[in-house]
Amino acid sequence: MNFRTIQPMRYALAAVAAMLFCTALPAAAQSPKQIQAALDSALTRFKNVREGANADYIPALARVDPNIFGIALVTPNGKVYTAGDVTSQVSIQSISKVFTMARVIEDLGPNSIVERIGVDATGMRFNSIVSVEFSQKALGGPEINPLVNAGAITATSMVPGATRDEVWKRILDFHSDFAGRPLTVDKEVFDSEAATNQRNQAIGSLMYAYGFIKDKPAQATDIYTEQCAISVNARDLATMAGTLANAGRNPVTGKQVMKAQNVPGVLAVMATAGLYDDSGKWLYRTGLPAKSGVGGGIIAVSPGKFGIAVIAPPLDAAGNSVKAQLAIESVSNALGGNPYAPQVSGKR
Ligand code: GLN
Repeated sequence: MNFRTIQPMRYALAAVAAMLFCTALPAAAQSPKQIQAALDSALTRFKNVREGANADYIPALARVDPNIFGIALVTPNGKVYTAGDVTSQVSIQSISKVFTMARVIEDLGPNSIVERIGVDATGMRFNSIVSVEFSQKALGGPEINPLVNAGAITATSMVPGATRDEVWKRILDFHSDFAGRPLTVDKEVFDSEAATNQRNQAIGSLMYAYGFIKDKPAQATDIYTEQCAISVNARDLATMAGTLANAGRNPVTGKQVMKAQNVPGVLAVMATAGLYDDSGKWLYRTGLPAKSGVGGGIIAVSPGKFGIAVIAPPLDAAGNSVKAQLAIESVSNALGGNPYAPQVSGKR
């Protein structure tokens, strides 16, 4: 055989080898032992971190045990890894904003949230009213997103349903499908927040006054408050994140919960605004689309590799769990989770 015939054969063989190698790789390219070791090591390294404080502007959240610390990771092949306390439940809080946004995208299409709410970072606190003022159409159009309160309450108002019950069921069922079990509401947290959420009521009214919410702003704020009180443990949250990592198919139950084609948009908004005004810093360190909640949970998604969640209630000044950020960054680094990490392809 001369060079001309050998060379293409070598390329073909290399291509076949590369394909076999890729398909044979487990999701995170790590063995189960390595994945478990990454979780265990994060738990040990950070369990004694004492920085941060529980949210207390919702009275019931101040009463949650600040020592809860649980890490869970779900791979696209449905394997669940856990470390620490993954049975204690906290309220999902702002992490619910991801799934209600996804519900709206599923029901009304990807443009619905871009047109009505926006998908830009506000650079302001999650419950900023100033950001609403800046987003008035007269001032150049929407510049908020569905992951801050104003955008989230608007997203809730967009979920189809003839009655409050219908809208609520649509939202709760969707969350349950992501978690792979029927979720319920923590009544104490719901009542506590409903009694003290005048600021969110004001935001809902303002969004109605400016035409972002079309109807029933008080109902939208009330349902939003209830969705924030859904109870979850770290395993639930990791399964929800794992479903986003697995193109919208719950890797544990096998149910296609949302259309694969709608997942990238959801992840993009999480990358832009998932950790509020610290989203850029977070993305710079990890590259992971993520979402935090003031209940102490954070979910993060490494597409095609894993969904991870950590619950640890004490928060930093931006409202993000201190230990959850540290633990997710550490596990993801150990597993090569950063989607922006150098990919070697083509000729070098
Ligand atoms: N329910 C909370 C609120 O509206 C959610 C905020 C959060 O988790 N960042 O204030």
